Amino acid sequence: ATAELVIDDLHVDYAIGHRKRRRAVDGVSLRVPPGRAVGVVGESGSGKSTVAGAVLGLAPVSAGAVRYGTTDLRELGRRDRPQQIQAVFQDPYSSLDPTKTLGYTLAEPLRSHAAGTERGGRGRESRTAAVDAMLERVGLGPEAANRYPAQFSGGQRQRASIARALILRPELVICDEAVSALDLSVQAQILNLLLELQQDLGLSMLFITHDLSVVHHIAEEIVVLYRGRIMESGSAESVCRTPSHPYTQRLVMSAPARDIAVQRERRARREALTPPPARLSPLGDACPFAHRCPYAVDRCRTERPLLQPSPHGGRVACHRAHELPPWPHMYEETPA
Ligand code: SF4
Ligand code: MG
Repeated sequence: ATAELVIDDLHVDYAIGHRKRRRAVDGVSLRVPPGRAVGVVGESGSGKSTVAGAVLGLAPVSAGAVRYGTTDLRELGRRDRPQQIQAVFQDPYSSLDPTKTLGYTLAEPLRSHAAGTERGGRGRESRTAAVDAMLERVGLGPEAANRYPAQFSGGQRQRASIARALILRPELVICDEAVSALDLSVQAQILNLLLELQQDLGLSMLFITHDLSVVHHIAEEIVVLYRGRIMESGSAESVCRTPSHPYTQRLVMSAPARDIAVQRERRARREALTPPPARLSPLGDACPFAHRCPYAVDRCRTERPLLQPSPHGGRVACHRAHELPPWPHMYEETPA
């Protein structure tokens, strides 16, 4: 990859009914430099899929910039998306046609995209060779070309959709909950495959997930979203080992831990950290996490915390980030 994905002060509003609008993304900025893997983590409703959608021409951008290199992605529909940008979704059926063999599905973009390019001259034989090479690359045998999506296991199907995303040799791959539907052991295999491909092919990757342990495995930088805003960002190490934002601390504590004792400690601490949720009101100028935060003070309900340098080298949006108790040593074990 040679270009950088730049998302700058992104706002996305969805209309609800005739008059109301819901702000799904509220001023998110992030960058994916060439060849880097950046993770966006958040629970459902955090706006993380909408961020992905804004890059892929699937979400309406209300304000802010979304560009890849010099290409402005805001006005592009899903069909005009540059071929350097591809996606892998949670549900492989969204990228695999159940009525077509995998071989046909993989050759199809080679046929249509090739028209008018130097690959335009490619005949059937070289397409077949490219398809076979890609199948091998993602750990499926050449016989997979003759099978239909329903004939694959969940993990094989996700391998197939990765092949579908990579066949046009993209530079940037957006993965939205790409392993979330899979069993844990299969998840690890697919994550390792993605990591291997990312490094071997020099791909840039924007990895969207609700699961901090997944993103810690794959991303060098992590952005934590909550209710459409960035709570914390920084290196994967600093976000996972020394989380500065009370919300990130909560995420780290809920991540699966190998050690059962650590898990029990985490549960106890998580319960202490979680007062009963108050009714959600529109955000306005408050901290989005104020209704769940054990450290909230009056200021948190009246003034929007801006991203600022965090005590551990990343950035954090919390008025009290510098006065919070130090992150307890016993929770420093990184998510499994
Ligand atoms: Fe908690 Fe206040 Fe920090 Fe928000 S700004 S996370 S409510 S302490
Ligand atoms: Mg989602």
